[in-house]
Amino acid sequence: MFMRMARFLPPSALLLAACAAFSGCMSRRPDVFLIVIDTLRNDELPWMGADPRFAPNLGRLAHEGVVFPRTYAPSPWTKPSTTTILTGLHPYRHGVNGHDDKLDASVQTIAEVFSAAGYQTAAVVSNPSLYDGGTRQGFEVFREVGRWIEHSTDRVAAQARDVIARASGERPLFLYVHFLDPHDKYVPPAQDRLFLPEGYTPQGPEVLTGDMRHFEGDTPVWKPTSFDFTPTPIPLQPLDLAYMRGLYRGELHAADRHLQAILDSQRIGRGNPLLSVVTADHGEAFYEHGMPRHGWTLHEEVLRVPLLFHGAPLQGRSLDGSRIARSMDILPTILDLVHVKDSEERDGVSLAQPPPEGGSVVQGLTCYHVQKESFIIEDPYKLIIDERFGRNELYDLQADPHETRNLAFSQPARVASMVARQQKIRDDLLSRKFATAKLEGEELRQHEEALKSLGYIK
Ligand SMILES: [Zn+2]
Repeated sequence: MFMRMARFLPPSALLLAACAAFSGCMSRRPDVFLIVIDTLRNDELPWMGADPRFAPNLGRLAHEGVVFPRTYAPSPWTKPSTTTILTGLHPYRHGVNGHDDKLDASVQTIAEVFSAAGYQTAAVVSNPSLYDGGTRQGFEVFREVGRWIEHSTDRVAAQARDVIARASGERPLFLYVHFLDPHDKYVPPAQDRLFLPEGYTPQGPEVLTGDMRHFEGDTPVWKPTSFDFTPTPIPLQPLDLAYMRGLYRGELHAADRHLQAILDSQRIGRGNPLLSVVTADHGEAFYEHGMPRHGWTLHEEVLRVPLLFHGAPLQGRSLDGSRIARSMDILPTILDLVHVKDSEERDGVSLAQPPPEGGSVVQGLTCYHVQKESFIIEDPYKLIIDERFGRNELYDLQADPHETRNLAFSQPARVASMVARQQKIRDDLLSRKFATAKLEGEELRQHEEALKSLGYIK
């Protein structure tokens, strides 16, 4: 997993030709599209060796741009991770770690920075857990797509294309698009059901779509097992898992298709060059460590996310994809690439600049329902700290990339030193933490209703 996959190729001749069709294109300020594909684990992408048919457009973009194959989310669920992407702050500092937490209004979000720099700012978002809590802060246009857990990719793309069509030609556009799929439940459109095992009839369709709810009338109700941290002994056979994974890959294929349509709208409809950034808020588990979905654990399958930069603003810049990247580096990198100044003190660093001395520390947490865990990576070692019961897990990611052999008992000194370092970093971040407001009243009621629909709360 540590193979060097760095690529920096100049933007394709195709892109430059398209750009040249618009007079004065290169002198115009670039549009910036930040596209977050919810729940997309990194190893489904062609640059990680996955079947290129899952995401052919992302494969092409990666070939023309730069990918960071070792990128970590700071948290395995939507709200803290997305807030980190939009603020460049670690979850300990932005403080949006619970379902009812709300970002402090004094934090300068990426939308506010772009707005101050003269950009028009718009968001098209389809995860209801992001409709409140600070995600919309700073956006002139904020479109919500869907109040329920449902396949929404086509509608997200249609809304994004509408935003692009209506955008002023006078000012550059910063657009944030958040696809909900391939979040469960996995229900890809018929045309994207391309990766299912042949001759197989699913036996437990509800479980196999990742949907762990059942309905009482119109009300989604969680099955008790979904809130136990005990690894779920669902007796899935290899073909069941292959079917489940095939559905998930179908949703990725749909997102890839619609993502390309959004980029095509920009190319055809606007004269500005474009910086595209594609990432995910977290990955997804398929029982690698006993659990499906995401939120509960801090293993690689839920923390490793894709990160891809593409477009004319990369020209003449040096980005080394072999270094470790973190979601909080995305904001500083984007602003650096398009030469927009930022006065906020971010926790992330620009990936277009040489790495800091000693490298970047990778660290994060989850406090999801009853879970309370944190992690720190001192390459190649990763420590997952169980903050309730002390059942720590230490892995050598180089020798054991799938985290199958817990070394915590055999290396107590390393565990102690990594725990101490994690606590020191955490305490420093907390000492500079922004105040966190709480959602209240009608805002909280609506938010909880949306989260129930997603199965995020009971
Ligand atoms: Zn998410």
